[in-house]
Amino acid sequence: QLDTVYSMTTKEKTVSLLKDRDAFSHKGTHGHALLIAGNKGKAGAAILAARACLRTGAGLLTVDAAETIIDILQTAVPEAMTKDRREKAFSNRFSAIGAGPGMGTGKEETDLLTGLLNDTDQPLILDADALTILSVHKQLLEQLPPGTILTPHPKEFDRVFGACSHEFDRWNRAVALSVRYPFVIVLKGHHTLIAWQGKGMFNNTGNAGMAKGGSGDVLTGMLTALLAQGYTAHDAAILGVWLHGLAGDLALMQQQSLESLLPSDLIDSIGAAFNSLR
Ligand code: AMP
Ligand code: MG
Repeated sequence: QLDTVYSMTTKEKTVSLLKDRDAFSHKGTHGHALLIAGNKGKAGAAILAARACLRTGAGLLTVDAAETIIDILQTAVPEAMTKDRREKAFSNRFSAIGAGPGMGTGKEETDLLTGLLNDTDQPLILDADALTILSVHKQLLEQLPPGTILTPHPKEFDRVFGACSHEFDRWNRAVALSVRYPFVIVLKGHHTLIAWQGKGMFNNTGNAGMAKGGSGDVLTGMLTALLAQGYTAHDAAILGVWLHGLAGDLALMQQQSLESLLPSDLIDSIGAAFNSLR
């Protein structure tokens, strides 16, 4: 039964998912992404997610951030627009929404996420602080639009879905949850598991140099960009996780080591990762 549930992502599979970029395209063709990210002391998470989102091909990006870090964001990522978190977002304007990196878990953020889930039936990507909010307000799980992507690391997974005694237990639970709920679970780790509709696919790129704060924020930005460009949630997860790991592998081959690799290096290698699939 195991081999009918679990499989491994291959390069051929990811190549087949990659869309062409139309020569006559314009920025509107590639979607307008919204990242809800960044708070005081956590501007870096928003910057990493934003830069990764733009490097993965989103046509336009708005970052919803706490007012105190707006100027930092505008300086660090001039290609992105910003929005003060206290202003109401018109979520239907956006082609995809990613929430969580360095976002904060206060009342303002909880209300924002709750409001968003009431307002929109657009698929979202929920990571980091957005998952923590979900773990406190578990009823929100029932409200997630079909095709939403959750990107927990093992601790975040256990926080939302209950403690698991063993990694195998966690894999099986993720797959079982993907039958009960219409969302994609990206359970991050050395071999990230993508669970969807009762199947689990293990990713085969990436390295231990990526075990450093900020790597996950890069992935969230990348997945948000892919959803914004019209990839389905499942395809975005398979392709995004593969490219993210591959960017890490290419950065290692070029000049970094397992010790020195930084999440910013992943962003710098996203272009090479795309090119190696074409
Ligand atoms: P986060 O814990 O949210 O920062 O996410 C970490 C990211 O780095 C995930 O995408 C993991 O899959 C990746 N990562 C962390 N450690 C490793 C590892 N030892 N091997 C491969 N990928 C890793
Ligand atoms: Mg994280």
